[in-house]
Formats: sequence, structure tokens, C-alpha cells
Amino acid sequence: MDIQRDVELRPHNSLALAARAAYFVRVENVVEARAALDFARAHRLAVAVLGGGSNVVLAGDLPGLTLQIGIRGRALIAERGDAIHLEVGAGEDWHQTVEYCLARGWYGLENLALIPGTVGAAPIQNIGAYGVELESRFVALEAIAIATGATRRFAHADCGFGYRDSLFKGAGRDAWLITSVTLALSRRPAPVLTYPALRAALAAVPAAEITPEHIAAAVVALRRARLPDPARVPNAGSFFKNPVVSAERARALAIRFPDLVTFPAADGGVKLAAAWLIERAGWKGVARAGVGVHDQQALVLVNRGGGAAALLALAREIRAAVVDQFGVELEPEPRVLGADWQAHDDRAAAL
Ligand SMILES: Cc1cc2nc3c(=O)[nH]c(=O)nc-3n(C[C@H](O)[C@H](O)[C@H](O)COP(=O)(O)OP(=O)(O)OC[C@H]3O[C@@H](n4cnc5c(N)ncnc54)[C@H](O)[C@@H]3O)c2cc1C
Repeated sequence: MDIQRDVELRPHNSLALAARAAYFVRVENVVEARAALDFARAHRLAVAVLGGGSNVVLAGDLPGLTLQIGIRGRALIAERGDAIHLEVGAGEDWHQTVEYCLARGWYGLENLALIPGTVGAAPIQNIGAYGVELESRFVALEAIAIATGATRRFAHADCGFGYRDSLFKGAGRDAWLITSVTLALSRRPAPVLTYPALRAALAAVPAAEITPEHIAAAVVALRRARLPDPARVPNAGSFFKNPVVSAERARALAIRFPDLVTFPAADGGVKLAAAWLIERAGWKGVARAGVGVHDQQALVLVNRGGGAAALLALAREIRAAVVDQFGVELEPEPRVLGADWQAHDDRAAAL
């Protein structure tokens, strides 16, 4: 294990933001993870955990130990009839894991193909796409308490999963280092085709003949067509969550805006399409100060060299415009590290 000092984090985040870590280490297994946490405790360093860096905004330098998770390995831990339980190291690539399962005829992850990042980060925001969320395939995870080094297994019910949310974004934020995740898969295909664009993409295939492989291929094609590749245009995917409002509020908005885009949400709430709100407020395609709103997908903010201050200033302006026009508050989806996104100094953007 090699703990380095003063490390540039630009290669380690998909927005290519140039923050620095005072201390940085990549851990390849649980023993190294424990040793790194012991080091942080001994030196009273704050710990920031990083997977693939595809859902973080590095808004400033990180003063403590940045711990990048490289824990690999996949193990079939239970098999009963069609049901499979697969334990996966937190540092495994998510999409490669989806492909690994498909290749073995273990189904359930196909709608979540091509989501960037690591397996260990997937429970943090209960990743979701094309009608499926991680929690529907989640069994349990193993984690180490950052403060004490104690290990704990979290079952599904312990994780507080919600829409792009979990215990690990709320009360358990910054408290746990996830080392592995156990997924429930099935040899029996059960295609989920609730997402209209996915169903439309597969319209040529009779419903009864649609396989998980069809779904994965369609999801990959849709994502490639709709989302900028972070390797070419640095971004963190959706910058804002889709806001959830009461049914009453959604009805009132739909009277004012008859083409308002909505989806049903849990507990009778209504999810509004943040991309629609941002586009309607006039921000789609806006580019300035080396940052911008993607011209094909209004939910995606891109960094073309402008940096964190300009990016967060843009995000705050978009949020204010959406509040003005619709009375709805957008909340960032990625984790902002190194500064508070609302308090961040935006002088750089104003220059
Ligand atoms: C182009 C693009 C498209 C995207 N599409 C989607 C999508 O469709 N659906 C979706 O849900 N997300 C999407 N995302 C967001 C992102 O891919 C997911 O949130 C992913 O799970 C992040 O994984 P990561 O390893 O990069 O996490 P990071 O960005 O490294 O970390 C994210 C958060 O998780 C914490 N964390 C990471 N690993 C661990 C660990 N092992 N233990 C404890 N904490 C940890 C970090 O501290 C941080 O708070 C997209 C991102 C991009 C760039």
C-alpha cells in the first residue's frame, strides 16, 4: 500500500476537476483498506472515499486522506434453483459486472448497463436507469466503519434506499467504507420494459421474445446516443435529481404548463423531469466560462476547462431560475466534496 502526498485528482474524477488530495491511497483489498483507515486515524486525517469518481464534484482540495477503492473479485456465494447470489468487490467496474452476469445467463442487471463507476458506489445513491434501481437486485453489503475500523453487514432493510438515495447519503454519510456488495440475480429472465424509450427502442421485437441481452444492447445504444462520454466531454451524468412534489402541486403546475413531464413516484408523490424544467427555463445548451449545459441533455453539466467554481456557479443559477419559474428546488445528484456547493466562492465565474 502506497500512501502518496499531494496528489492531483483530475484523472480520478469524470468531471476532470483539478483538486488535490493531501494524502492519497488506492486500496486493493480489505487488509489495505483497514491499514489506510488506521493511518488516517493515527494522523487525525479526514477520510474521503472515491470509487470511479463519476458522481462527485471536487469543489476544492481535499485536506485529509483520499482513499480510492480498488477491491476486486466476484464470488458466487449461493445458488438455489434459478436464484444466484453474487458477492462483488467494491472496486469492480459496474458495467463490467453487468456484462459478466449477462455472459453467464445471470439476469437482473441489464437495464443498468453502462452506468459508469464501481460496484461499491452503486448502493450509495441506489443507482437507477431505464425502469430499474439497484435495490431491486441488492441483498447486502459489507462495510468498515471509518471511525473505528469495525466491520458490519448491512441487509437491504438497513440501507434506507430511496430514489437516488440511501442511508449512506444521509445519516450514514462519510461513516462507512463499502468493501463488497451481494447481488441477487436469476437464471430466469424477467424483462423490465416499463421505461417508454426502452420499449420504443425494442418495438421491432415481439414482447414475448425480448431477452435480457436485447435490453442490455438497447440500453447501451440509448445511453451512447443520449449522454456525452466523460472521456471526451467531462461530466458527472445527471447533475440534478428529478424533484419529487405532491400530486396536488404537480396538478397545479400541469395546468400552467400542459406539456410538463412527470413520472409516478413512491408514496403518491410525482417526479418531475428536471431536464424538462431546465430546458424550459432556457438553459439547455448554454455555454460560458468553460462550463455549460449539454446541448442534447439539459440535465448534464459539462466542464470544458472552466473548473469547479464556474460549474457550481452555473448550477446555482440554474437552480434559482427553476425556482423562479416553477417554484421547485433542484438538488444536486453528485456528491460535492471539498466545499459546500451553495457557499462555494463564485468570483471566478463572475470575472
Ligand atoms: C455519463 C454518466 C452517466 C451516469 N448515469 C447514471 C445513471 O443512469 N444512473 C445513476 O444512478 N447514476 C448515473 N451516473 C452517476 C454514477 O455513475 C453513479 O453514481 C456511480 O454509482 C458512481 O460510481 P463511482 O464509483 O464513480 O463513485 P464516486 O463518484 O467515486 O463516488 C460517489 C459517492 O460514493 C461514495 N463512495 C464511492 N465508493 C464508495 C465505497 N466503496 N464506500 C463508501 N463510499 C463510497 C463517494 O464517497 C461519493 O460520495 C452517471 C455518471 C456519468 C458520468
